[in-house]
Amino acid sequence: MKALILIDLQNDFLPGGMVEVPYGNEVIPVANRLMEAFDLVVAVRDWHPGNHGCFAANHLWRRPGQKIELGGVEQLLWPIHCVQNSFGAEMAIGLQEEKIHRHFFKGTDPEVDSYSGFFDNAHQADTGLAGFLHEKGVEELYLLGVPLEFGVKYTALDALALGFRTWIIEDGCKPQSAEGDDLMAELREQGANLIPSILLLPNAG
Ligand code: ZN
Repeated sequence: MKALILIDLQNDFLPGGMVEVPYGNEVIPVANRLMEAFDLVVAVRDWHPGNHGCFAANHLWRRPGQKIELGGVEQLLWPIHCVQNSFGAEMAIGLQEEKIHRHFFKGTDPEVDSYSGFFDNAHQADTGLAGFLHEKGVEELYLLGVPLEFGVKYTALDALALGFRTWIIEDGCKPQSAEGDDLMAELREQGANLIPSILLLPNAG
């Protein structure tokens, strides 16, 4: 069984959002087309309380881009984003949300951040995603989302460590900075497979 995992496809990660990913909007039509081709579609969402420690605004004299320690691990500070129940945390405008079977939420504990859809950055708390996928008999994961350096990368590394066959959809991911190609190569070295979305569509070939 295969599952499509949509990562952080939320308004704040798209152009105009608080932590925008350039051209992030270009992955939305890719996601809409692919959702038709998968029996199981899961969304992983950044879902922070307003007092989350990853927000620079919650620390005296700190700015986005600086680093602190949070939850026992190094933490990059961010602008306020994906606050629970806010517009920025909603699924991206234009995404056919009704095709998502299940949503998993990360970054809910104010004391530790979570880039991966599986575990927090300290690898302590579990979002429930791995258990759900095992219960459904899923062995192959196809990842699509933003930003490539954070949500996609760390979800992929955890997926590989958990033993899932893991595919990164090349035209379904966008980086926040200009290092996208290097990151794709790095993920491939770690054991992920890269695939263009067209090969996953029903009429491919
Ligand atoms: Zn976040």
